[in-house]
Amino acid sequence: MCSRTTKYDCLKRYFGYESFKEGQEFLIDSILEGKDTLGIMPTGAGKSICYQIPGIMMDGITLVITPLISLMKDQVASLKEAGIRGAYFNSSLTYNQYMKALEYAKIGTYKIIYVAPERLINRAFLDFVKCVKISMIAVDEAHCISQWGQDFRPSYLRITDLIDELGYRPVISAFTATATKQVRDDIIRILELQDPAMLTTGFDRKNLKFEVRKPADKYSFVRDYIRSSPGKSGIIYCISRRLVEEVCDKLNRDGIRTTRYHAGLDDGERRKNQDNFTYDTVPVMVATNAFGMGIDKSNVSFVIHYNMPKNMESYYQEAGRAGRDGENADCILLFGESDVHVNQLFIEKDSENEELTEAEREMLRDRDRRKLRQMTMYCRTNECLRQYILSYFGEDSDGNCGNCSNCLADFMTVDITGTACNVIRCIDSLYTSFGMTTIIDILRGSRSDRIIRADLDSTDLYGAEADSSKEFLKQVINHMLIRGYLVKSEDRYGVLRVSSDRKVTDLLLQREKLKMKYAEDRAESRKKARKHNFDSEDMSNNYSNNEELYQALVKLRLRTAKVKSVPAYVIFTDKTLREMCISRPATEEEFLQISGVGESKLQKYGKNFLKVIREYSR
Ligand code: ADP
Ligand code: MG
Repeated sequence: MCSRTTKYDCLKRYFGYESFKEGQEFLIDSILEGKDTLGIMPTGAGKSICYQIPGIMMDGITLVITPLISLMKDQVASLKEAGIRGAYFNSSLTYNQYMKALEYAKIGTYKIIYVAPERLINRAFLDFVKCVKISMIAVDEAHCISQWGQDFRPSYLRITDLIDELGYRPVISAFTATATKQVRDDIIRILELQDPAMLTTGFDRKNLKFEVRKPADKYSFVRDYIRSSPGKSGIIYCISRRLVEEVCDKLNRDGIRTTRYHAGLDDGERRKNQDNFTYDTVPVMVATNAFGMGIDKSNVSFVIHYNMPKNMESYYQEAGRAGRDGENADCILLFGESDVHVNQLFIEKDSENEELTEAEREMLRDRDRRKLRQMTMYCRTNECLRQYILSYFGEDSDGNCGNCSNCLADFMTVDITGTACNVIRCIDSLYTSFGMTTIIDILRGSRSDRIIRADLDSTDLYGAEADSSKEFLKQVINHMLIRGYLVKSEDRYGVLRVSSDRKVTDLLLQREKLKMKYAEDRAESRKKARKHNFDSEDMSNNYSNNEELYQALVKLRLRTAKVKSVPAYVIFTDKTLREMCISRPATEEEFLQISGVGESKLQKYGKNFLKVIREYSR
């Protein structure tokens, strides 16, 4: 590579982008300066380019270690599309293919080579690396090295063996979307990163709109949602295989082309269904959480959770598969009370790890119960959902994102000091602990058998909130839980206690006020939320008058992708097609200005795409 080529040239020439995204420049610079580098960036932030561009610019070969065989193929296809010499070594190659690829690699055919971690200490592979100069080892999905990460891969531990075998030390770079300190520390320690340059970019994904909905009929909600956004690609996560089957069948019967994925299907069908989804043959995927890390599809425009997942980590990771291309995307969680119970059952039944003692297992169950509680709070809060997520991951934000169902809903801020004090006094006056339903019944002066028989109608606060609705009191109590005035037991009974925090006294003495956002009419506010969304002026809405051209370009892309047997987004992303519709380039020069068009793609596809654009511009 010509030493005068700059990273900006690379970005434009190979990837067709005008500018770097947050964090990319820092990471690329630090690698080019020869420093070990650790990049922690959320999914979709553009980590690949951070090692691919230095890989192109440095003079030797870059090895990229990544756990997923299915992904490697697409990643290398993307590189080739961009005009970069890439290859992959994994178990999907036959022995002969592998040997041939190694031969080519030895004579310097490839700049960037993806390797499965299992291959690293394979004899033939070691022979190869000793014949060439490895300038960098890039460890993608680096959290796999940590037992604390969600996807621990013991074979990742072999990376250091490979480095030892080399006899010299290339630059080591590592990338992950997992931000916890334990994982970060493990990556640095186990990979033996030397004084690494480190960067964590914000976890906020501004293009994702977060929503929590409590529809009476989840299925109708999903069906209507998909019908209202035709042609869009999305994932629906269900809590069980049975539910996956059910929802998938119903959608297909209702005329929505849908495929499915869960661990009960055989390998062949799983692969086929995943391909159909990735290659845009079928727009909708219904899946359990087994449909996981291997999804690198950039144009997923919605992720619906049919059930509440078990914790915020899972939720953010799964929801985060939407909008990787930077387009606006919806992350909708459909909450039902039964989701809480099902998840609780999973926790109580879980006896997965045989190696643990009962005490250790109980500790883990405790942790899981707490995480479930925090997940449930997310579904119940009326405050900004984005703030809730970010604060869960240890990031501050101002709490009014304007792009979540709570910020968009029409909430009234109400002073609930009086009601909150009644709740506290009521709980304090009882001889034993009760759950939320009973407390609400007492406060509302219920005449139900249960209340009368237990003599609860004789408590001081009986009927003190007779004018309040059940729903209002429920929201007040949840708010008090979130704000730490009340504590709920972690067991299945979920009984309420008053917290020992000083702020309880402050509240009772009226030294402090407690306010809460309250939605009186959720249906009404939903209408408004939708309208707001529709009004917002952004690129994705402008293209509607170009719809025909857009569809024509999508068709051309699909044809091209089929010929090359790569996923459609490897040719051009939706965003790139949209930009073509809006700016309607007429010449090759103008075509090259489109974000996502580099020189290689201009040469390969410019003519055909320009032709279609011309036809529609006449
Ligand atoms: P990650 O590995 O961090 O999840 P990827 O590397 O897969 O993210 O990139 C996500 C998407 O962002 C891809 O479609 C990629 O082409 C795009 N992308 C990366 N860098 C840029 C950039 N500088 N400008 C515009 N799009 C970019
Ligand atoms: Mg990645």
